[in-house]
Amino acid sequence: MRSKGIDVESVILIVEDQATDALVLHETVRDLGDVYQASDGPSALMMARRCKPDLVLLDIEMSGMSGFAVCKALKADPKLCDAAVIFVTSHVQTENELRALEYGGIDFIHKPLNVPVARAHIKAHLALRNEAKKLANHDALTGLPNRALLKDRTEQALQKAHRSQTRVAMLLLDLDNFKGINDSLGHSIGDALLKEVAERLSQASRSFDTVSRQGGDEFIILLPEVSGFDGVGDFAERLLSTISAPFILQGNRHNLSASIGISLFPDDSEDSESLYRHADSAMYQAKLDGRNRYRFFSLDIEHSSRGRHLLEQHMRSALETGVFEVFYQAKVIASEGRVVGMEALVRWRNKDGSLFSPAEFIPLAEETGLIIPLGKHVLEQACKDAQMLVAQGMHVVVSVNISAVQFREETFLQMVQDTLLASKLAPEFLELEITEGVLAKNVTNTQQVLSALRGMGVRIALDDFGTGYSSLTYLKRFPVDVLKIDQSFVRDMLVDKCDAAIIEAIVKLAQALGLELVAEGVETQEHAAVLQSFGCQVMQGYLYSRPVPFIQFCALLDSGEFSVC
Ligand code: C2E
Ligand code: CA
Ligand code: CA
Repeated sequence: MRSKGIDVESVILIVEDQATDALVLHETVRDLGDVYQASDGPSALMMARRCKPDLVLLDIEMSGMSGFAVCKALKADPKLCDAAVIFVTSHVQTENELRALEYGGIDFIHKPLNVPVARAHIKAHLALRNEAKKLANHDALTGLPNRALLKDRTEQALQKAHRSQTRVAMLLLDLDNFKGINDSLGHSIGDALLKEVAERLSQASRSFDTVSRQGGDEFIILLPEVSGFDGVGDFAERLLSTISAPFILQGNRHNLSASIGISLFPDDSEDSESLYRHADSAMYQAKLDGRNRYRFFSLDIEHSSRGRHLLEQHMRSALETGVFEVFYQAKVIASEGRVVGMEALVRWRNKDGSLFSPAEFIPLAEETGLIIPLGKHVLEQACKDAQMLVAQGMHVVVSVNISAVQFREETFLQMVQDTLLASKLAPEFLELEITEGVLAKNVTNTQQVLSALRGMGVRIALDDFGTGYSSLTYLKRFPVDVLKIDQSFVRDMLVDKCDAAIIEAIVKLAQALGLELVAEGVETQEHAAVLQSFGCQVMQGYLYSRPVPFIQFCALLDSGEFSVC
């Protein structure tokens, strides 16, 4: 166990050419730090360069290079000169002692060693040194790492990121209008606020991030392990919101905001200097743009990150104001022109009336979790619309796309059940389209959810079949009702024999396993004819109808304009 007051990271170097003395010294300091040993002057210097000792226990009388010469060399090296040197000697001579102090030694230990006394000396010097080290590396007001320590950590992080080909992010955070607070409320309130800001920033960061104060109202947060910029933008957003929560000091409320500049290694900076300069200029830009915001140094990153955040914000408010619409695309029995189903496809209507494609926003909705409320909205609307058709005596099954994120949500089953109940739609008129990816993960849980859905009477379709983690064992293991042949095979089957062969194989597979089949992306009569010749009956595609709003879909049903084959 290490003694109280001694930093566990203390490094002690013993330089002693007598093996027995070295052993006694080692035993004396073993629990006071990481102990290194050398038995002559030149190897002591080499070892010191490697282990950067806090304390050197240095024998004076050594053959070759004397302890004095070693001490002189240590003190002449800017990287080692801070090490505390305690001489160890069996010759108690004033002249020797004076010389040792002249060379920069700070104390003596006499041989033969009085262990308790020697330990007390060593411990006192280590404690002093640790205190000095802390003062040199930390900001006195907040206790956060200061500029010097940050520089050290930045260098280390850059080396590591270079080796492992990852990113490092530097966020420079500067409080907005802080000078005004200091001037009007006085420095003691200003200092108390800075301490609280330091605390909040530390709370918001991970243990391996470095939150440092540079001086004044400027803080730097170093993120040594970063995968993508989006995460960094989210983190900056969190820092802004933690700063904008009111500060209560002595019963008074103070509101602060901050501007943050972000630079990234290796995207826009290659060393710690440019990382800092670029974070600083990005912070300046954030101030110019109106404060209380963050900016990336790189314009490309700025645009992609801002675009993503804007889209996310828009999506949230679009969900609240209900501008997501559900369109329907018919599934038709080609030979009869009879509609047997409709697929619900979500659309986002812009202010100017144009439509956003789901391919543009579904991935982000999945990433942010917005897919949960969005998917629920689509399912509710789809069940309501389908029930209207069923109530008029039409036998049309509605298919709803379910993303993996939604499927894995704990409340998913209950949500489906509640929605069916609320809409009064009989479960056999609801089909859920999932992709093979859903089946590939978390097999036991997936099986349970699918069996429960089957138990309720809901049908399951495998969407984009043939493109995912196709494994035929899925088809045996999971209760699936329908295979949807992916549109890429249909699109290319007339020119690519392989695609035609794949479709034929899927049709045979479905027939053998007693599964229903739907071909998607059917655009031409020729497609429909070839698919029919393979034995596929139900089709979906522009040939029959594009996805359209429900009213238009009803009109199409009435006109019977699907009887094209
Ligand atoms: P998907 O489930 O494979 O849907 C079929 C896509 O093919 C739809 O694109 C549809 O408009 C398009 N399509 C239909 N017939 C044809 C055709 O003949 N030719 C061509 N070239 N395309 C055709 P959309 O509506 O843009 O949807 C894209 C994807 O977004 C969907 O692919 C689905 O994965 C996802 N999606 C749409 N709505 C939802 C939803 O409510 N929830 C979830 N989780 N995903 C959805
Ligand atoms: Ca689908
Ligand atoms: Ca599909």
